[in-house]
Amino acid sequence: MPRVLVVEDEQDIAGLIKHTLERTGDASVQTVGRGDEALRAVAELAPDLVILDLNLPVLSGTEVCRLLRQRPETARVPIIMLTARTSEGDRVSGLDLGADDYITKPVSLRELGARVRAVLRRGRGVDPARTHVYRGARLFADFDAVSITVDGFPVRLTRREFELLQFLVENRNRVLSRDRLLERVWGYDRFVETRSVDVHVGRLRSKLGAVGAQIETVIGLGYRFVDEPAAT
Ligand code: CA
Repeated sequence: MPRVLVVEDEQDIAGLIKHTLERTGDASVQTVGRGDEALRAVAELAPDLVILDLNLPVLSGTEVCRLLRQRPETARVPIIMLTARTSEGDRVSGLDLGADDYITKPVSLRELGARVRAVLRRGRGVDPARTHVYRGARLFADFDAVSITVDGFPVRLTRREFELLQFLVENRNRVLSRDRLLERVWGYDRFVETRSVDVHVGRLRSKLGAVGAQIETVIGLGYRFVDEPAAT
């Protein structure tokens, strides 16, 4: 069973998350209440997922995230951040620091369960950074052969659109900020505006037809490719 570490100093929230995930049998959950304890617990437990509150005593969630990402042994542990609904800046910086997803407070338990399952599913599969072939319910993409089809029909993409799709699919079910997309797909060309990401996503969506809806706009943050796996 996957191990989840919850880092939250508000005990009733931590307890609620633990209860929810353990009741549905999704995970076994450990909780700690301070940032410095979180670093120690991650080293000892090697959790499959860390749910990390931003407002913590001793060491903030942002610092914990930064430190976990810096250390090679914890650089790849999935992190879901808990943030206040009002602080969009926190969410953006959390994602830029390498958090995989975020959940806003007050926590919706149904949303929490869904996000946790999505992140754990992704972690169990092959290394997402090495996706060469993606088989979805409608989208088939062979990134080595530069071949994209939707419902069996080939789709012609420009090089940028192709790279954008590849990066979104490699990071499926994960929110990518416009800045990360820009950096990854356009490199460090500082004459490109973040708005051009929106333009390219718009074109990519319309070329992908029915699959276009799987590229979700996450308001104020960026985009997420929602996985729709092929039936097995
Ligand atoms: Ca807190």
